Amino acid sequence: MKLQTRINLLSTVLTLFIFIISFTSIYYLYKYLAYDTEYHRLQMDGDEMLAAISELDSAANIDTLLRSYIPQNGMIYIKDENNEAILRLQATMTVNKMDYAIEEGTRYTVSKWEGEPVMAIRYPMVWPDQSVVDVHLVQPLQEVSDNMAILKWILILITLLAIIPIYLASQLLVRLIVLPIQRLTSTMRQNIAQSRYDKLDAPADKKGEIAEMTYTYNSLMDKLEDSYNKQQQFVGNASHELKTPLTIIESYAMLLKRRGFKNEEINREALEAITSQTAQMKVMMEQMLELAKASETLQLKQEPISTTELLSGIIDSFQKAYKRKVNLQGDAFMFTTDVSKLRQLIFILLDNARKYSEEEINVSVMNGKEVTIQVRDYGTGIKEEDIPYIFDRFYRVNKDRNRQTGGTGLGLAIAKDFAELLGGSITVQSKIGEGTIFTITLPKGGRDA
Ligand code: ADP
Repeated sequence: MKLQTRINLLSTVLTLFIFIISFTSIYYLYKYLAYDTEYHRLQMDGDEMLAAISELDSAANIDTLLRSYIPQNGMIYIKDENNEAILRLQATMTVNKMDYAIEEGTRYTVSKWEGEPVMAIRYPMVWPDQSVVDVHLVQPLQEVSDNMAILKWILILITLLAIIPIYLASQLLVRLIVLPIQRLTSTMRQNIAQSRYDKLDAPADKKGEIAEMTYTYNSLMDKLEDSYNKQQQFVGNASHELKTPLTIIESYAMLLKRRGFKNEEINREALEAITSQTAQMKVMMEQMLELAKASETLQLKQEPISTTELLSGIIDSFQKAYKRKVNLQGDAFMFTTDVSKLRQLIFILLDNARKYSEEEINVSVMNGKEVTIQVRDYGTGIKEEDIPYIFDRFYRVNKDRNRQTGGTGLGLAIAKDFAELLGGSITVQSKIGEGTIFTITLPKGGRDA
């Protein structure tokens, strides 16, 4: 069933249900109050009658006195101790003997007689001959019954008439809820069919579920479009970057094919070029894989680690591999992070410091509201105009020179992705000829702490 029909049906049925429940309660409350009023009236008549009888000395002419107390259209019925009828006085003689019920322990009993409700109450009374008799006052509730019938029809009519505005209101409700959903669905369909990232018209008022849904959808589209563009750019850049080493490999392979293997010098040159280009491509492929993995947030394995253990471990292995002096200074404290990712991130920065400087490298760590790790070198530095781009994928300040240093332009892009993945950030300060400082800031309790 369509959402539209469901909301329509449900809201109409629900409102009708509420109407029926409230009207039924009103009907029975009215009935109770009307019976109660009638009971008090009958009771007052009865009390007056008892007072009048108590003043009589003999039972003679008692029926003339009682006749003036007969309830309207009703009856007075008097029984002796043996439940034998002593007197029965009925307002209208033409009708059959009025039938009714008297229940023990209740203030009054209402029973049906010829389809009409009849109220009966009872009194014990001392008869003028000093015997105790049972007086029943019986009254048909014609007026109450007529009023209740009118009330019933009014309530039924109101309920029936209410169906129209209820239905119209539910239509309005449907429009409020379903229309934006329909708009969203049709835009989504168009986007899928035409591979587009169209957005919905955003309402001026940003509050409310529908507005929130629209804004969420629009920001989702923005993100998708952005990531699609980035992906396209990445694929373009990657194939462009891979093309150069592949062309070099191909041309050397063709040279070998043409000139044969007789010229030893050409052989050596070709093999060296092919080996170095293959190594370069391997590094690039590995880095691309790292970038792809960086988006998998779920794979974070956070654990507590001390700064000394982490940094001296990295520095030791770095010094052994590259024979470069690295100084460590700063605070020793515990913090939580994905150790393996942070290790790779610091390694990228150390490797860059090694590639772009000749002197010693300094690593420092500071314990503040957050963890701050700095990698500083005294090398070439980066030009101010290049700084905004160095974290972009495949961006290299000086392509030719970096070919010699084996750079791919992916290192800092991975470093930035990792820093963000760990819940932190990475910044750079640099001056040409003076050196560069990379600063990593991380939350102490780990990501999402
Ligand atoms: P690459 O593989 O070329 O080093 P990166 O993404 O690591 O790629 O760095 C991008 C560019 O930023 C490098 O080409 C280099 O010009 C510059 N760069 C990075 N780190 C440093 C540094 N410590 N000193 C000077 N320049 C740097």
